[in-house]
Amino acid sequence: MKAILKKERNVGFVIENVPIPTIGDDEILVKVEVASICGTDVHIYDWNEWAQNRINPPLIVGHEFAGVVVEKGSEVKRINVGDFVSAETHIYCNHCDMCLMNHREVCRNLKILGVDTNGAFAEYVKIPERVAWVNPKEIPHKFASIQEPLGNAVDTVLSEDISGKTVLVTGAGPIGLLAIGVARVFGATKIIASDLSNYHLEIAKRMGADVVVNPKETNLREVVLNETHGLGVDVSLEMSGAKSALSDALKLTKFLGRVSLLGLFDNGVEINLTDDVIFKKLRIYGITGRRIFETWQIVSDLLRSRRLDVSPVITHEFKLEEVEKGIELMKSHQSGKILLYP
Ligand code: NAD
Repeated sequence: MKAILKKERNVGFVIENVPIPTIGDDEILVKVEVASICGTDVHIYDWNEWAQNRINPPLIVGHEFAGVVVEKGSEVKRINVGDFVSAETHIYCNHCDMCLMNHREVCRNLKILGVDTNGAFAEYVKIPERVAWVNPKEIPHKFASIQEPLGNAVDTVLSEDISGKTVLVTGAGPIGLLAIGVARVFGATKIIASDLSNYHLEIAKRMGADVVVNPKETNLREVVLNETHGLGVDVSLEMSGAKSALSDALKLTKFLGRVSLLGLFDNGVEINLTDDVIFKKLRIYGITGRRIFETWQIVSDLLRSRRLDVSPVITHEFKLEEVEKGIELMKSHQSGKILLYP
C-alpha cells in the first residue's frame, strides 16, 4: 500500500509502498477514506526537538482520519466490517489508575497513533478496537477526519458552561477556529478572536467571531475592554501556545472568570500569578486530548445535526502524495484544515 513515512532521523517525509498491516486479535484494519494534517505532523516533518526525542523512524505518520473497516480480529465484538470509523488517537492502556478512574485522556501509558505507532497517512491503518469510534452515517464523510481536533475544541470550550458568556479566543489556528464555532453553538454572547494571521481571522469571522483582532496591528486590550463594558471577558480560551497570548488571556479575563488552556508552550512561561490569577480568583483548566468517549458523542452530534458547520475551516483538499504541499501551506499560515485523500 501507499504510505507517508518518516523514514530517517532528518527533515521531510518519504512516500513508499509498504505491506498492508497485519492485525492482531483485538485490532481492526481500516481502509482510509480521508485524513487531515495536524500541527504534530508538521513538527514530525520538520524534525524539531520534540520529534527528535519522541519519534522512532521508520514510522507511518498521520493520526486524524476516517475510513471503512475491512477486517477485524477474532476478539473484536463492538466493531463490524463495513463500519465507517474514526479513531481516538490517544491509545490508552485501560489498566492504569487514570484509566480505571475513567480519565483515559491522561492514561499513564499513553501511546499516540502516528507518533508512537504506525499512523493513518496510508491506504490502510490498523487500530485497537477500543479506540475506534463508529461515525453516524449522516456525518458528511469529508468532515469525519477532523473530529479529533474538533474534540480538543469541544473540551476546551465546554470545560465549564459557555452559554451567556463573553469569550476571548487567543489563536485562531484550526483548533481555535473550531472552538469559535463550538462556543457560538453553545450560546456564547460575544466572541472576540485574536490571531497574528489575517487569513485565519477572516475564517474566524465566518466561524462566528463577532470581533477579530490582529494584536500586531490593533491594541487587543483596548478592543476587549471596549467590547465588555471595561470589565474583560468571562472566559478566555488559549489556543495558540504563544506566551504573549497567554498573558493576554489572563489579563483580559475579568475577576472570577475562567481560562482554559489548550495551546502547548515550548518552554516554561512566566506569569504574574498573584495579580493575574490569584487576586482575580480565576479558574484555570489544562486541557489535553478529549474525554473518551463523551467528547466524541458531542462532536458526532454537532456534525450530524448540522448545528455546527465546519466547512469554513477546511480550506484545502489534496491527494495523499501531495502531503508536503499541505505542510508548506500550513507553515505559511495560509490554510485552515487540510484534507488528504489516499
Ligand atoms: P496552530 O499552530 O495551527 O495555531 C496557532 C494559532 O495561534 C496560529 O493561527 C497563530 O497565528 C496564532 N498565534 C500565534 N501567536 C499568537 C499570538 N501572540 N496571539 C494570538 N494568536 C497567535 O495550532 P492548532 O493546530 O490550531 O492548535 C492550537 C494549539 O493547541 C497549539 O499550540 C497546539 O500545539 C495545541 N494542541 C494542544 C492539544 C492538547 O491536547 N492540549 C492538542 C492539539 C493541539
